[in-house]
Amino acid sequence: MLEANLSWVRMAVFFGGLIFFLLVELVIPYRRPSISKLKRWLINLGLTTFNTVVLRLVFGGAIVATAAYVTKNQMGVLNMVAMPYWLKLLITVAFMDLMLYVWHLLNHEMPFLWRFHRVHHTDKNMDVSTATRFHLGELSISACIKIGLVFFLGADLLGVTIFETALVLSAQFHHSSLKVPWWFERIFWVLFVPPSMHRIHHSVKIRERDSNYGTIFSLWDRVLGTMVSRVEQNKIIIGVGGHFDQKKLGLQRLLVMPFAKPVR
Ligand SMILES: [Zn+2]
Repeated sequence: MLEANLSWVRMAVFFGGLIFFLLVELVIPYRRPSISKLKRWLINLGLTTFNTVVLRLVFGGAIVATAAYVTKNQMGVLNMVAMPYWLKLLITVAFMDLMLYVWHLLNHEMPFLWRFHRVHHTDKNMDVSTATRFHLGELSISACIKIGLVFFLGADLLGVTIFETALVLSAQFHHSSLKVPWWFERIFWVLFVPPSMHRIHHSVKIRERDSNYGTIFSLWDRVLGTMVSRVEQNKIIIGVGGHFDQKKLGLQRLLVMPFAKPVR
């Protein structure tokens, strides 16, 4: 019962966030799009739909089942020491976010993983739909790692759901083309990842791209020395230098991109 409810919460957050950010982007966009929004949406959401169907069939419920299993059998690191429940939830969210940071960094540093992750970075305009533009290969590998982490940590269903919800909303917000007041960005940046921080990560300049890997918390980039902030925001060109021809960035091209010639 709880599992079914939480799965509804996740779906509501995903679609609610998508529609909310899209509407606000249309009213107060950060940048005027250089490519038709509709065209990009068809590509990005086409990819999302394909991924969701396959992931549901292959991993459908595997993460949920793992969380239920470790909770029932009191397994994992979090169940080895007595601690308040709220602390367990907090550690789950923070630890999963740190692991996501490491995984994201590896996606940039390892040429094999970059083949898949570049699909996300080849979007030449950023908006809320960019947050779901990923290659199935990347999502499949990360789903396997996530299952392993839930098992290791002994994370329960609520903890995993809070993490996933924060992850979705955070990614939708920092990919969105939203005009956010600078003072708000500055305050938000102290703890979390605002759009300006992630925009630098989507720059064509490799030295800017290989920075700001955080998803929920900005802490990991700050502490581990991968944060870049002094960049003139208006001059950032978004995309991957070797994949700049929009005609070659259709849905089919994106699906085979990991197996095509490597591009930095
Ligand atoms: Zn990236």
